[in-house]
Parts: sequence; structure tokens; C-alpha cells
Amino acid sequence: MNNRLKFKQLFDALLPQSCLLCASPCGGKHGFCKECLQDLPWHSARQCPQCGLPSDGAICGSCLNSPPSFDATRALFSYEYPVNRLLQHYKYRESLHLASTFSSLFIHAPRSIKSTTAALIIPMPMHHERLKQRGFNQALEIARHLARQLEIELDFTSCRRTKLTPPQASLPLKERIRNIQGVFNCSRNLDGLNIALVDDVMTTGASLNELAKTLKQAGAAHVECWVVARTLPQPY
Ligand SMILES: [Zn+2]
Ligand SMILES: [Zn+2]
Repeated sequence: MNNRLKFKQLFDALLPQSCLLCASPCGGKHGFCKECLQDLPWHSARQCPQCGLPSDGAICGSCLNSPPSFDATRALFSYEYPVNRLLQHYKYRESLHLASTFSSLFIHAPRSIKSTTAALIIPMPMHHERLKQRGFNQALEIARHLARQLEIELDFTSCRRTKLTPPQASLPLKERIRNIQGVFNCSRNLDGLNIALVDDVMTTGASLNELAKTLKQAGAAHVECWVVARTLPQPY
């Protein structure tokens, strides 16, 4: 362990943080107190290993009928309160400290990504115009922490979003698929590599699917999605 990390651990131990949600003084190492941590909407129910949607644990019908370009999905949470609020806060208020919180939760979650075989981490690229407006890429900041903690190479330069398109969240499903087609470009030869894609929220999966398709065309052997939160279909 390097000295900086040792110092950080010592610093954290000496200065207990308050919980990010209830402000009780026992924030713990992930930023939440024990009770709030347990109450988070962990995405732990049985789910399709490929797309992360609820299933009996087997590949779901939708993935069987039209298999996505990614091979697996690991979602930390369901996109529900309070994780939706935390993510909005993170994205729009530049609460960058949350990137390290999400990353450490990924690693210490009950179904951890620690045993991953990924050799490369690629964050969802942001178009440079949008990056200028927002000031940071929310996926990249989480990916940076994950790469450091897991000691996996991070590549945030080889894949680019070459077209500026309307935000996916503003569009219905069919238009999301059309909106995102052909927007990514990968300049690196990824022959035979296992790759983890990092993003904050997965809704229809159209962006991650298109990015995975681009990476497979560049030679990637296996692509998995690591997302902080997965939106789930609402029960009727
Ligand atoms: Zn709390
Ligand atoms: Zn599926």
C-alpha cells in the first residue's frame, strides 16, 4: 500500500464522517451509517445476468430474443429513493466525493465486482461539448476510483462520443436506440480483451449496448456493464 493511501486511512479513522443520508455522526467508511447502508435499494433480487432486469436468475426473454452486445450487467442499486437523489446530486451539483463512495460500495457490496476478470475499464464517454457545459464526466470519475482500487487499467481516451445528440432521458425507447446509433468511435485495438464499462444509470441500456457494439467491433472478447443504478419496470 502506498503512503498516500495509508495516510488517507489514518485520516479517515481519526475524523469520523457524518452519514450522507441521516447526518448521524457514525458515517462509516462508505459515508453511510449502518442502518442507512442496509436500507439502500440494493439491486440484489434474482435478475438476468446479461441485462440486470428481474428474472428467475436465467437469461431473460428479451436478451434471448435480441441479445445485447454486452455480455453481463452488474448494477449496484435499483434506481429508487434515495439513490436517485444521490445520483442527481452527484451529476448536477458536482458532488465529486460521491464518486469514491459509489466505487467503494461496488467493491464492498454483497455481490462484489472484486473477482472480475476485466483487464480494462472504460467509462461511458461524454461528448466534448457536453463535458464543457457540465465540467466533469460522472462515469469517468467513478471509473477512476474503481480502476485505482481494483488495479485495472483505465482508458478514457480511446473511445469517444463523436456526435452531440439529445439526452437519452428526454426520448422514448425507439428514439433512444436511433438517437445513439453510430455515435461512438474506438481508436484502440481491443483484441481478446475483457472490458468493464462504467456508467451511473442504466435505463433502457441503449447507450451501453451501442458502446459495447463499438468495442466488440474493435475486437473486445467480453464486455460487462457496471452501473450504479438500474431502472426497473414499474409494477402495475
Ligand atoms: Zn444514516
Ligand atoms: Zn436480460
